[in-house]
Amino acid sequence: MNLSSVKKAESEVLLPTYDRLQILVDHGAGVYLYGADGRKYLDFLSGIGVNALGYSHPALTKVLTTQAKKLVHVSNLFFHPYTAELAKRLAKISGLDRVFFTNSGTEAWEGALKFARAYAQHVNQNGSKPRWRILALENSFHGRTMGSLATTGQQKYQKPFVPLMPGVEFVRFNDVADLKAKFDDTVCAVCMEPVQGEGGVRPISKEFMVAARELTKKSGALLILDEIQSGMGRTGKYFAYQHYGVVPDVVTLAKPIAGGLPLGAILTTHEVSSCLHPGMHGTTFGGGPLACAVALEVLNVIEKKKLLAHVEKLGVYFRKQLAGLQKKHCCIKDVRGLGLFVAAELHSADMAKAAVAAMLERNIIINRTNETVLRFLPPYIVEKKHIDQVIKALDQVLVGLSVNADKRAKASA
Ligand code: PLP
Repeated sequence: MNLSSVKKAESEVLLPTYDRLQILVDHGAGVYLYGADGRKYLDFLSGIGVNALGYSHPALTKVLTTQAKKLVHVSNLFFHPYTAELAKRLAKISGLDRVFFTNSGTEAWEGALKFARAYAQHVNQNGSKPRWRILALENSFHGRTMGSLATTGQQKYQKPFVPLMPGVEFVRFNDVADLKAKFDDTVCAVCMEPVQGEGGVRPISKEFMVAARELTKKSGALLILDEIQSGMGRTGKYFAYQHYGVVPDVVTLAKPIAGGLPLGAILTTHEVSSCLHPGMHGTTFGGGPLACAVALEVLNVIEKKKLLAHVEKLGVYFRKQLAGLQKKHCCIKDVRGLGLFVAAELHSADMAKAAVAAMLERNIIINRTNETVLRFLPPYIVEKKHIDQVIKALDQVLVGLSVNADKRAKASA
């Protein structure tokens, strides 16, 4: 099997939903991915933020193989030892009380939306005003299923699938006045990513986050944070909201929590959980023994290796190096991020696309989001030398792209 035969086979049977990088992957180890042709890539995308401990981490592999021999799936009709233990750990690090496990990010977000509606009905039982509106943010991304899509403030994702779930209104990013204008006591939830990921790695301002917390607290609406990309250490704290000094009513997690196995989680308060009873929500696979056992080990490794401090430190270093490049290359418009959730925004979408391709030619995997933004999501185990390698390559790539752009400009003059 080579890349072209796999591509041909896929094109005959798969739905054409993915625009894949031209690599047939064989295996991964640490921060590196290896192609079937033997090429070695430095991976600064980590399976879109999933492989936080890199590839084939020995501690995860050990738990994975041991548990796989014992019990992979049993359904939520039974108890197994890991759900309560994992939920306890998540509650402790989040400041929240209760957990529901899912399989993916969008499934977690769907559940969070359902809980917001159910909680609003529960507290309004005696029939005051209906409270079902949801405020989400422009440029947000919460997933591909219908409810998640309805709260995703980007036309390109929504348009082919309308009509979507009603009752959602979008607030301008970081615009406190717009939030206040759209908020009233018919709102059951204000939703946002503390750092917009697919929207271009844009952290929410402290002022906006605090305003959202105060408004929701006063009215009894829920503050729901989507930490599917930013959570579990990516920003140098377990949760990005911990940079803001607020605690939400609901938070969703997924991507890195089980080190590559599909697992998501909705974390919430005792109060919100009191509106739920058996049968109201569920999932067949979510919270299975294999994923939960591995997720516990992910937490163990983060703690034992003090990875949060490492992420924080290397994030600062990475952004500093990118800021250095920004001084040299006028095509870099902005450098931003939190921890190892890092972006360099370029002035042009074409240049960003070309930069990703040119980095790949140099065996470095990064990705482009929101057209103009180079996004870096390295694993938490990344070292300074890997960052230096990426900076050096990006420097060369941007020099090459500017020379080409100058040539094209001269030729057309
Ligand atoms: N929310 C955020 C912030 C995301 O970044 C993503 C995925 O990129 C999702 C939700 C959807 O997660 P999944 O692809 O696991 O359904």
